[in-house]
Amino acid sequence: MFDHIGLKAAQTKDQYKYRGSFGAFSNEMVFVRPRDLADGVYTMRLLPPWPERNPRGFRRVVTHQVQLEPEREFKIIWCLRAEDADCFVCDLLEILAESYKTYTEAQQRAIEAMTPFERFLFPITIDAMKDPTSTDKYPPLVRNPSGQSISAIWEIWQPGILRKLTAMLEQYPTLSDLQQGSYFQFTKNGKQYDLGGLYRKEPLQLQEAFTEAKYPRINKLYKKVHRWTYAEQYERIKNAWWAHNIPMSITENAPEAGILDDGDVPF
Ligand SMILES: [Zn+2]
Repeated sequence: MFDHIGLKAAQTKDQYKYRGSFGAFSNEMVFVRPRDLADGVYTMRLLPPWPERNPRGFRRVVTHQVQLEPEREFKIIWCLRAEDADCFVCDLLEILAESYKTYTEAQQRAIEAMTPFERFLFPITIDAMKDPTSTDKYPPLVRNPSGQSISAIWEIWQPGILRKLTAMLEQYPTLSDLQQGSYFQFTKNGKQYDLGGLYRKEPLQLQEAFTEAKYPRINKLYKKVHRWTYAEQYERIKNAWWAHNIPMSITENAPEAGILDDGDVPF
């Protein structure tokens, strides 16, 4: 059963502000973020949970982006607080909330960039396809006029869409069920997004989405995100180019390194 209670709880626990997207770290799986879609009305469906690969029906991903050297790319790291552990970046941001305005603009930009970015991943089917007329390296997705669906990962962080989806799941706990579930509509109009009501209640047509080979391994995504322990976060960030006059005294209480293993995140 889709863990819609957990989905709701996860949203109310931390409402992080969107700071940017860090791309999808998968060569094979199609990621569908609202901005990837051309304007239009799409028919979507949540895939039901799958043991081990996606036991709750969704995955919550929270990261920080950290710049260690000027003009260099940002490191994307897991937020440990999102995994119910202590997170040095989160602790630091709380401290800096008081003194933020005393730093230079360049420092402020580096601090702001560390703001946690939370998004949710849902395996779905959607009647979209890569725009055959586009010559872009990453062509936008357009509605497939034949109505044929593909399996994809829906990545959303927009609170309004998440609230609507949660409300639908509360009203219809079997929304993602293979037999009892329903298709629904996602509408994009510029930067306006909307979820339609239930569109079509019928068994899922794309049976191949559930083969051993094709069901998305949602817990394996974002492999390239670095997992730094609390102590590693501290050691690296205290030497960041922007951190020279920023107090790091909160680390006196830093727990030992090795909070989490390097394996998959536990949810
Ligand atoms: Zn954090």
